[in-house]
Amino acid sequence: MDYFHYLEDRLHCEEVPLEEIAAAVGTPCYCYSQRTLMRHLQAFQRAFVDTPHLICYSVKANSNLTLLKRLVDRGAGLDIVSGGELERARRAGCPGERVVFSGVGKSHDEISAALGYGIRMFNVESMPELYRINAIATRLGVRAPVALRINPDVDAHTHSHMTTGLWRNKFGIPYGQAIDLYRQANRLGHIEVVGLDCHIGSQLTTLDPFVEAIQRIGALLPLLRREGIQLRYLDIGGGLGIPYESGDQPPTPAQLAEALHSQLQQFPDVELILEPGRAIVGNAGVLMARVEYVKPVEDRCFVITDAGMNDLIRPALYNAWHGVLPVVRHFDRSEWLSDVVGPICESGDFFARDRLLPEFQEGELLVVRSAGAYGFSMSSHYNSRPGVAEVLVDGNRFSVIRQRETIEQLLAHEMTDELHRS
Ligand SMILES: *Cc1c(COP(=O)(O)O)cnc(C)c1O
Repeated sequence: MDYFHYLEDRLHCEEVPLEEIAAAVGTPCYCYSQRTLMRHLQAFQRAFVDTPHLICYSVKANSNLTLLKRLVDRGAGLDIVSGGELERARRAGCPGERVVFSGVGKSHDEISAALGYGIRMFNVESMPELYRINAIATRLGVRAPVALRINPDVDAHTHSHMTTGLWRNKFGIPYGQAIDLYRQANRLGHIEVVGLDCHIGSQLTTLDPFVEAIQRIGALLPLLRREGIQLRYLDIGGGLGIPYESGDQPPTPAQLAEALHSQLQQFPDVELILEPGRAIVGNAGVLMARVEYVKPVEDRCFVITDAGMNDLIRPALYNAWHGVLPVVRHFDRSEWLSDVVGPICESGDFFARDRLLPEFQEGELLVVRSAGAYGFSMSSHYNSRPGVAEVLVDGNRFSVIRQRETIEQLLAHEMTDELHRS
């Protein structure tokens, strides 16, 4: 459910016609609906209202500071994976109590900074990381709260690049090593063992893998209790899928809550943590682009836009399907077999392929839908293209929440001087 819709054949985000935004800020640009964002956060909060819980939005899905601030203001916590994201959490005003730190490669500096900020917990992904955190906490004279991220070895049935819960993925601690590592953690002087964590993948469209994962890792809780290890937090990660194509019906947060209900009841004394990213922001954003050229070849036409794979890499990276809509609808146009592509020098630079779309003309606007998650945050400067603008719509108003980068800014960190002698 989102708030992008046609009104008199003009595509609107909430009450603002997208044409108006394009005229004001130019293209390409990302355009987000605040109402959609809030609705999705609320769907999680309401689904788990009967369970003590914290929704830690996964910052990497879309890390724009304004969006983070809006979510944090509505009670969300944040799931971070780097020192940069920690700084974003700070600037978004997220209290440390509501920050969890995930990721397989946390550096010394990142761990120190997170300890300084007083985060809720580190989701520890390996034995050496556990010992590194203990050493840094010792030096700082604090105790580091940790959860161990256990790899439940379940198949999430999603794209291979988005599956993280199989033994052969780099993520988490192998299931068989869990108890032993908890014992070790419990003996370390500057570690406070507070939680159990898993995250099995992204864009999951069935509930079974979640249920299976909770069964697997939930079974550890009584074993740990017997060892005298009483956990406060059970973090089940993110990964809930979203509809990309019409007809897709991934489970809702309410259905997820329902499916997990009986298992969670067995652990009344732990607080549940969820780390949704895509499910909150994915369908709250579109990428708007202008058609530069229309090129007919053989059986189809290439619709060449001013946005490229550097702005939205999901089709190239995951062969992801995104809807494409004209910003102004013309019912008298015939449909063409079309490939919607960007200007980048790569054949992987496409948004849609083999799609029957109404004929586009040069200068017209289109949007690539469901682009709010892993869109801007995965964008790059490839082909020396400046970062695009981001706009947030709230009702009948919109504001630029990230200015379009200039070529001057793009080049600012590069040197043209002679090389220094070493
Ligand atoms: C990426 C990630 C998430 C968010 O995943 P979504 O599929 O966007 O919900 C949550 N937790 C961890 C550890 C992640 O790496």
